Amino acid sequence: MTGYGDGTRCVHGGLGEPEPGNPLLASPVFATGFHAGHESYGYGRADNPTYRALESAIGALDGGECVVFASGMAAIAAVLGLAPTKVVLPSDGYYLTRSLAAELPVSVVEVPTTGPWPSFDGAELVLLETPCNPGLDVCDITALASAAHAAGALLAVDNTTATPIGQRPLELGADIVVCSDSKALSGHSDVLLGHVTCRSPELAARIRQTRTMHGGIPGPFETWLAHRGLSTLDLRLARQAQNASALYTALRGHPQVSNLRWPGAEQDSSYVIASKQMRRFNGVFTFTLASREAVEQFLAASKLVTAATSFGGVHSTADRRAQWGDPVPEGFLRFSAGCEDTEDLVADVLAAL
Ligand SMILES: *Cc1c(COP(=O)(O)O)cnc(C)c1O
Repeated sequence: MTGYGDGTRCVHGGLGEPEPGNPLLASPVFATGFHAGHESYGYGRADNPTYRALESAIGALDGGECVVFASGMAAIAAVLGLAPTKVVLPSDGYYLTRSLAAELPVSVVEVPTTGPWPSFDGAELVLLETPCNPGLDVCDITALASAAHAAGALLAVDNTTATPIGQRPLELGADIVVCSDSKALSGHSDVLLGHVTCRSPELAARIRQTRTMHGGIPGPFETWLAHRGLSTLDLRLARQAQNASALYTALRGHPQVSNLRWPGAEQDSSYVIASKQMRRFNGVFTFTLASREAVEQFLAASKLVTAATSFGGVHSTADRRAQWGDPVPEGFLRFSAGCEDTEDLVADVLAAL
């Protein structure tokens, strides 16, 4: 699908050759065992045509070889397995990545996404998260990939917030992309899935072998749902970014709102690097209200914004992150703009405030 735009690639990626009478998107294959003798498909834990179809679509967007997993955390666990002695992680990224690393027999260095960055000497893996969740700070993937490579480390990027059409870390010098597809990629708040894409086929084979051994495989039905969701990613991100932009404008200077952040806004401290290395923005932005009670009143008053964790779905949601232990103020909200009509959403949010 090279030479086509993102919308076309999202719609057509990973589809089989047209065959009269076959479905446009092949139905999920649920087999445990396959008739013996095929080069790839023998036992369902190792490989499956439904995985391969989605892996082909996502891998083409990421620009490498993709391996799908049962969740974003299963994908992250496989990547952390590449660092037996020392790993560098974001101190302000997805909290379970840090919790998992803390349980492993590996030395962990935590660095905020905006730096300052220490020497990577002795590390096998540097994992970035940009924009980071929930703070939405960004870091320079190209510069950090060079520094990691100079120290002999692999550079991985958690690309969940950006999605494969919002940012292509492999083109910026990263070795590995890891992503929770439970968020915007699937996009309908009804499936858990993750993936790892590697620039090198050898590394992808290692990751695939880890998946086979650990058994963190997605269900074929979930994989198929994610593939169906991917076909509208371009459309959904466009509306979500439009809604985030309109809400940013409406909330800027609002007396009850402080620390409004959206990497797509020129005024935002992330904008200079984000606009250089990201291909487009999305619907996730953050702001702080005066207190926990103010957040609760806001969410109770809104008719369109659902209190829910996770983000990137078609419904607008907001999550008070302090309740999960993130190091943020009590009134800090991560807002995920959905696909509602822009005027409806802005009017609802302003009325609720
Ligand atoms: C949600 C999330 C994960 C974990 O993904 P799951 O699919 O929930 O396992 C990892 N990284 C980031 C940045 C996330 O937002």
